[in-house]
Amino acid sequence: MPSRPRSQRVTDLALVLRARDWSETSQVATFLTREHGKVQVVAKGSRRAAPRFGAPIEPLVRARIAYVERKKDALRDLRELEPVDLYWRVRRGLDRTIAASYVLEVADGLAPNDEPVPELFEAAAHALADLERGAHIDGRTMAFELAALASSGFAFDLGRCAGCDAALTEGARSRLALAPWAGGVFCGRCAGGVRQAGRVSGATVAALRDLAHRYDPPGDARPRDDRLPWPEPRVAGKPRRSALALTPARTADMRAALDLVISSTLEHAPRLAPWLAGRRPAVGRPRRPASPPAPSADVAPAPASGPASESDASGDTTDDTDAG
Ligand SMILES: [Zn+2]
Repeated sequence: MPSRPRSQRVTDLALVLRARDWSETSQVATFLTREHGKVQVVAKGSRRAAPRFGAPIEPLVRARIAYVERKKDALRDLRELEPVDLYWRVRRGLDRTIAASYVLEVADGLAPNDEPVPELFEAAAHALADLERGAHIDGRTMAFELAALASSGFAFDLGRCAGCDAALTEGARSRLALAPWAGGVFCGRCAGGVRQAGRVSGATVAALRDLAHRYDPPGDARPRDDRLPWPEPRVAGKPRRSALALTPARTADMRAALDLVISSTLEHAPRLAPWLAGRRPAVGRPRRPASPPAPSADVAPAPASGPASESDASGDTTDDTDAG
C-alpha cells in the first residue's frame, strides 16, 4: 500500500505580510501567524472573479486562516481566510498607510521562517490596531520597533551602559554612543573609544526609553480601552517640557537612532524607511502658523531625512527647548 503524505490542517490568526500573483487564479502569500511564525501559502482561487476567500489577500489584512501543510518547508495550501480587521482608517491616510506598511516590513524582516514568535505577532497587531484607532503615527511606529526588537531576540538596552553597566542617567545634552552591534548605548564616559557607533543625545535616549513602554508595557498591562495613550504633540499651546514631547527635531533624532538599529539588525534599510511621516515635510497643510503664532519648535516643518550627524545637530534644538 503506497504511503500517503501526511497532511495537517492548521488554524491561526495571521497578518498578511506580502502577496504576489502565482497563476491566473492564485497567489502566493506570506503570513505572520501568531502560533506558527512566518509561513508561506498558496491561495488557490484568490484571483478568480468569485474569490473563495473572505478578503483580498494583501498587506493590511488581519484574518483567521486555515491551511493544510503536507510536509515541512513545502508551500501550504490556504483553505480559509476570514477577515478580522482590514484597517480602513489606516488605508484612508497616506501617512498611516506608510507607517502600518513599515510595521509589516520590519516584522517581516525580524520574523524567522516557520518559527513561532507570538510576541512579535502581538507587537505588530497591537501597533496596527493603535494606528487604526488614531494613535500618534511617529510615536506608535517607533514604539513598535523597540517592542519588535525585544520580542525577536534583538532587545536594545536603553537603560544601562553597554560598557560599564551604569544606569544611563546623563543629562539631555550629553553625547552617548549608539552601538547596534553591542545591543545598546555607551555612556558618556565609555563612549569615547567606541567604534562603529552613532552619536546620540541623552535626551533622545531618554525619549526612546520612555516610549518603549508607552504602548506595550511590560507584563500584560496593556490597557484595553480605546483611549489614545499618546498626547498629540503639535497641538497649539505651550510647548511640552516632558521627555516625551515629539517635536519634529526630537522625532528626527529618535528616527535616526532607530534607523541605525533597525538597518543594522536587518542588515539592510527598510524600503519604506525614507517615507515615514516624521521625516517628510507636511504636505497640503498650511505653512502659515495659526494665530497667535505657536512656538517655533512646534511649527517648524519636519527636518528632511539625513544621516545621523545631521539629525544630531537638530537634537541640540530639542535640548534647548527642554532647557529653556
Ligand atoms: Zn559606561
